[in-house]
Amino acid sequence: MPIPDYAIYLIPLIFILTFYVGRRKKSEKKSVIQMNEAISQGLTEPASLHPVIDPVRCLGSGSCIRACPEQALGMIKGKAVLINPTHCIGHGACAAACPQDAITLVFGTEKRGMDIPQVDPAFETNVKGIFIAGELGGMGLIRKSASQGAQAMDSIVKLKGSANDYDVVIVGAGPAGMGAALGAIQHKLRYLIVEQEVSLGGAIFQYPRNKIAMTAPVKLPVVGEMHFKEVCKEKLLEWWLGIIEKTGIKINYNERMENVTPYDNGFIVKTSQSEYKTRSVLLAIGRRGTPRKLGVPGEELPKVVYRLIDPEQYRNMHVIVVGGGDSAVEAAM
Ligand SMILES: Cc1cc2nc3c(=O)[nH]c(=O)nc-3n(C[C@H](O)[C@H](O)[C@H](O)COP(=O)(O)OP(=O)(O)OC[C@H]3O[C@@H](n4cnc5c(N)ncnc54)[C@H](O)[C@@H]3O)c2cc1C
Ligand code: SF4
Repeated sequence: MPIPDYAIYLIPLIFILTFYVGRRKKSEKKSVIQMNEAISQGLTEPASLHPVIDPVRCLGSGSCIRACPEQALGMIKGKAVLINPTHCIGHGACAAACPQDAITLVFGTEKRGMDIPQVDPAFETNVKGIFIAGELGGMGLIRKSASQGAQAMDSIVKLKGSANDYDVVIVGAGPAGMGAALGAIQHKLRYLIVEQEVSLGGAIFQYPRNKIAMTAPVKLPVVGEMHFKEVCKEKLLEWWLGIIEKTGIKINYNERMENVTPYDNGFIVKTSQSEYKTRSVLLAIGRRGTPRKLGVPGEELPKVVYRLIDPEQYRNMHVIVVGGGDSAVEAAM
């Protein structure tokens, strides 16, 4: 029997389709296994900003899965799903890659909830003179946090002056606090930065070794463009340190802000070291909180961490987990 002409096209088409469906089924099976593993280990809560995928809009293109450098997403029943919630670091590459706008980045989860403080477009809270920038205000990205910090200074410079020691006390030396310091220099504000850690960088300082950060170019005051797209943690910290050298930004390390009270036409900021009178305060403290320290020698070494981000880097090493609560048990597992 003669083979019909269309078979020349049909046979390869069937072959390609079978291959595609088989591959998709295999990858869906893998996603289900990974998701069940995460659930059985109780690793179901993303730490911070994370994607919520609208199943109605999602067409299962897989663009978000390919864009995610942390393997946090997978495909199940033809829809993208956050299968490894604790892997998600919230830089939003998935949302940017989705052709359907099916992904929203949110902080809160059903279990945990999350209140985002209310700030006006000038980054001022309902307490006049107290400003918020960066991740604390709901913006979980390096470049956006840095530019929000700088923009907050555009508002602070317009405040009516007072006889305080400072125009602004900046709390936190992460991207938002550093952007704010540059803004303060540009506007010739009398500023002070307090940082509870031994280094600048905020969350970046806590990334695993050699971690690649994905960002986009952003223009900052005084120094011009932060031109990185992909850059390892160490290089990024080096870049910020270079800026400190160039601009003379002074940071009070190891100094934790403890409370802020209204005073005259401004505030008194009480820290672990001192008290400062200031016209305004910028809270650039992120969302990672303040880890309780043991107060033992060696605690400042880079091998001591307060959050388990990438368990793989500790494979075949002896690790001590300090604590006996839920997070300690999760980390040990
Ligand atoms: C593992 C990981 C990977 C990430 N990867 C990317 C990425 O690739 N691209 C991207 O754009 N974003 C990434 N992010 C998110 C990004 O790092 C954060 O959005 C950004 O650092 C937020 O900046 P921030 O200045 O608002 O807060 P933070 O970076 O959290 O800085 C806050 C600072 O305030 C200090 N502080 C807090 N409380 C006090 C206090 N009471 N007194 C004094 N100091 C205080 C903290 O010690 C900290 O240094 C990642 C996050 C994580 C955890
Ligand atoms: S926010 Fe980043 S880490 Fe989280 S799922 Fe999207 S691409 Fe992956």
